[in-house]
Amino acid sequence: MNSETRQCQNCKKDFTIEPEDFNFYKKINVPAPTWCPRCRLIRRLSFQNTWNLYWRNCDKCGEKTFSRYSPDQKIQVYCPVCWWKDDWDGTEYAMDYDSSRPFLEQVKELVEKTPYVSTNNLHSSNKNCDYVNSTGWSKDCYLTFWADYCDNVYYSTLINNLKYSSDCIRGYYSELCYESIGFSKCYRMFYSDECDDCIDVWFSRNCYNCQNCIGCVNLSGASYCIFNIKYTKEEYEKIVKDLDLESWSKIQDLGNRALKFWLTKPYRAYHGHSLNHNVTGDYVYTSKNSKESYILNGGEDCKWCQLITVAPIKDCYDYLGWGDNASRIYEGVSVGANADSICFSNECWPDVFNLQYCSWSISGKNNFGCVNLKKKQYCILNKQYSKEEYLILREKIIEDMKKNPYIDKIGRKFYYGEFFPLEFSEFAYNKSNAIRFFKKTKEEALAEGFVWDDSEKFNGKPTMKSSNLPERIEDVDESILKEAIECINCGRTYNIAKGELDLLRKLNLPLPHECPKCRENKRFERMTMPKLYDRKCDKCGIEVRSSYAPDRPEIIYCEKCYQQEVF
Ligand SMILES: [Zn+2]
Ligand SMILES: [Zn+2]
Ligand SMILES: [Zn+2]
Ligand SMILES: [Zn+2]
Repeated sequence: MNSETRQCQNCKKDFTIEPEDFNFYKKINVPAPTWCPRCRLIRRLSFQNTWNLYWRNCDKCGEKTFSRYSPDQKIQVYCPVCWWKDDWDGTEYAMDYDSSRPFLEQVKELVEKTPYVSTNNLHSSNKNCDYVNSTGWSKDCYLTFWADYCDNVYYSTLINNLKYSSDCIRGYYSELCYESIGFSKCYRMFYSDECDDCIDVWFSRNCYNCQNCIGCVNLSGASYCIFNIKYTKEEYEKIVKDLDLESWSKIQDLGNRALKFWLTKPYRAYHGHSLNHNVTGDYVYTSKNSKESYILNGGEDCKWCQLITVAPIKDCYDYLGWGDNASRIYEGVSVGANADSICFSNECWPDVFNLQYCSWSISGKNNFGCVNLKKKQYCILNKQYSKEEYLILREKIIEDMKKNPYIDKIGRKFYYGEFFPLEFSEFAYNKSNAIRFFKKTKEEALAEGFVWDDSEKFNGKPTMKSSNLPERIEDVDESILKEAIECINCGRTYNIAKGELDLLRKLNLPLPHECPKCRENKRFERMTMPKLYDRKCDKCGIEVRSSYAPDRPEIIYCEKCYQQEVF
């Protein structure tokens, strides 16, 4: 089969479907997509809201609940206790299929009338994690989002097996880390980017297997180095003492110095490591035969997979979050924890099999077009059928969907084989995960059929300015827990959490002067976005695919030059 160029139904730009793609679509028995890869990714992202949380009341018990849905949204939202209770399973909302109307129009009725859970945590697997979202198998975590198997973690996201840490993104199998992104198997890692197997490393980038290093770049197996200069243990300890890593203002100065030093040393064209085989994309680790992905851990035979934080996944295309043993996922959003053969579905986990057009089918098997349905199989529109009835009706609906598509409000057609229309998402564009990776103005988003939310969250009056915070943690007492601190950057107020204070004391680090939102935004700015550019290697000049745009200040090397010069 040859590659084919088609016009994206959404952005009207041409995109290519490769022979390998056709093989995949054939293998899982779905038609080729009508939207281009970029539009498909933005569509999936618009169905998630990991980072914008609100207070609203449970529509069942009335209790105040931490929620991904704003209080103005006119949908039913239950608190986790009410939603996960066994006194309902979703079949109460069962509908008969009406073959005279588009099928997805009927699914939308279920989207509008079934109750959603306020946060998408694997509720029963978490302990003492009241203020988390998209989290499972974790304990004692606070304002931590998209986390699995974590313990005592604060203000962190996209993490897995992280312990006693705060303010991190993409941290895996590590402990006692602070204000760091992209690290694995590290112990005491501070203010650093993209390091693995390190101990006691500060302000460093791209270091592997290093110990006791500060401000270093591209080192492997080093110890007692400061700005890439080797010292004796005694000299190092003396300099560390003079650097005064306990002081807030010294830490700011050192951070700025390190950033300037980082820019003098080459960057690999993409974020990944040499354990990959035949991959393209960015932030790809321990993967093989996987293309055009972004944050992929342990992928095999995958394409266009994003935010896969828990390995492994296999045979997946267009899959956004989060893995933990998933296979044959296509156009899936927030699917994982033993998931197999899931298409055009969101929020389906754990132990799910053979679902299509499902939203919130929890531990479901063989369901089609079901919404907020728990532990059921052979259901269509939340109605229970026998296996034989189910298979016959499912085939009939698929044939109907091929002839009678859902048409959205701006005329885009959704035949069988497309993910849900944008208007099925519960989230405004600017509150969804899409805004994090693809900036759009309100006008652009509305023109493309997204919703926009102008509301601002309530913010309390400050009781102190962050500029008046003590310079060192040793000068902080418990009364700080009662203060509403004004963020030095955005002016919003924030608090210090008890566990956060205990951790900072343990690490001997000063209190943060910015609110958690500003800190999180700044960390994301340290990462590249899911877009690849064609540019040249700054050393040998060959063409490379890189997430660093050609006009950025970093020195970018192709894999060969990077390995020759660095490792
Ligand atoms: Zn497009
Ligand atoms: Zn409730
Ligand atoms: Zn702020
Ligand atoms: Zn090169």
